[in-house]
Amino acid sequence: MVYTIMIDRTKIDEILSRAEKLEGLCKEDVTYLLNSYSNKLKERIFYLAKEIKERIYGKRIVLFAPLYVSNYCQNECLYCGFHKNNKSLKRSRLTIESLKKEVEILINEGVKRILLVSSEDPSINVDKLCEFIESIYSLKNLKGSIRRVNINVAPLSVEEFRKLKLANIGTYQVFQETYNQSKYKIYHLSGPKSDFRYRYEAPFRALEAGIDDIGLGVLFGLDDPVMEIRGLLTHIDEMKKIYGVGPHTISIPRLKYAKGADLSYNPPYPIDDEFFCYIVAILRIAVPYTGIILSTREDRYLRDKLIELGVSQISAGSSTTPGGYLNKANEGEQFSTSDHRSLKEIVLNLVERGYIPSFCTACYRKGRTGEVFMELASDGRIRSFCDKNAILSFAEYMANFGEDRKGELKIKLEEILVNFSNDFLKEKIDKIFSGEKDIYI
Ligand code: SAM
Repeated sequence: MVYTIMIDRTKIDEILSRAEKLEGLCKEDVTYLLNSYSNKLKERIFYLAKEIKERIYGKRIVLFAPLYVSNYCQNECLYCGFHKNNKSLKRSRLTIESLKKEVEILINEGVKRILLVSSEDPSINVDKLCEFIESIYSLKNLKGSIRRVNINVAPLSVEEFRKLKLANIGTYQVFQETYNQSKYKIYHLSGPKSDFRYRYEAPFRALEAGIDDIGLGVLFGLDDPVMEIRGLLTHIDEMKKIYGVGPHTISIPRLKYAKGADLSYNPPYPIDDEFFCYIVAILRIAVPYTGIILSTREDRYLRDKLIELGVSQISAGSSTTPGGYLNKANEGEQFSTSDHRSLKEIVLNLVERGYIPSFCTACYRKGRTGEVFMELASDGRIRSFCDKNAILSFAEYMANFGEDRKGELKIKLEEILVNFSNDFLKEKIDKIFSGEKDIYI
């Protein structure tokens, strides 16, 4: 709900001038902006979000694909297609063999980053997850390999998180869904997920275990978005206070239709596209150094707009069904997706709009995670790594997957290089086109 308040223009100017200096915003500032929604203010914030986004992230957009490993679930969440009583869902779980088939397909499309996703399935314990991760990293073919496995699974204990850390995961992602505790109780009827606190503290346990890239998120549509953003910013403040580091990413899923999950048919707090864009733009100016992740839950047109306003990472060519890359049927999907373009189509679209598709996985392999990353980000130094690695990884994509449109993509790459006029990059790109892989700084 957005409350109508008397808008104090001086206060708004003062908040926005702090945002412009990349100082970030506190939850009171953000609440004030959210509650002062007007067309005029919206345009001003959209402009600022775009400007800040390009100042910090330049033109690169990081691409990844989700890989669902199971949809058997012990939880009863009213909004999720995987909930245990959903009789209409076709259940499946991957074996090591079927996982390898999925990964091979993704590698052959050019994917370098996977987000491994699982329902809360007792058969997929942490040792199984580690086996999956090891299999993913070990698969290599002429087209390349997966270089970063991020993970979105149910909260674990510190000991279990330590195992994931040893398995070399990138980011551990967990969405609180709603920060409203009483509503959380209503939406999560039974199963381990019904424990609000255990979930809330999962990022802290992961940090305790040494995983320092954490992804947070809210499932928009479950409660008043103003309260959700306040909850999210409080969570971030706590993280920073205790561990000295904020989240690496924030995800912004919006509740979508999921067959057999009643709450998804009529979200209790529907958010229209325009206000959703406003929320994302405000998040961008409030936490300028945190990546914002957008999935294929949203359609291509809205995704294009949100990329301008602050999103820095997107999934592409996604399936939310375990085994869904090999078997295109979607009876096992978690929710319906709206952007059905292939990775290649999305790459082309990004290039046409002046963005650099990035397959970069350099930071965590170079130890630029957690606090180190934040430090590099806060004075803008990270941008020089991001720009170069985005270009190098895009060149590798072109060299290996750009056959049909090579001419067109190559011209774009050359245009990008002219803007950078960088001999170091030119030399590396020559090597990439002569067959070298995985060049990064
Ligand atoms: N078991 C893991 C956990 O506990 O976080 C994974 C959960 S699920 C596979 C990943 C995310 O999908 C959830 O955290 C939730 O935010 C989102 N989700 C669930 N149902 C959804 C729906 N109907 N529409 C959009 N997103 C949904």
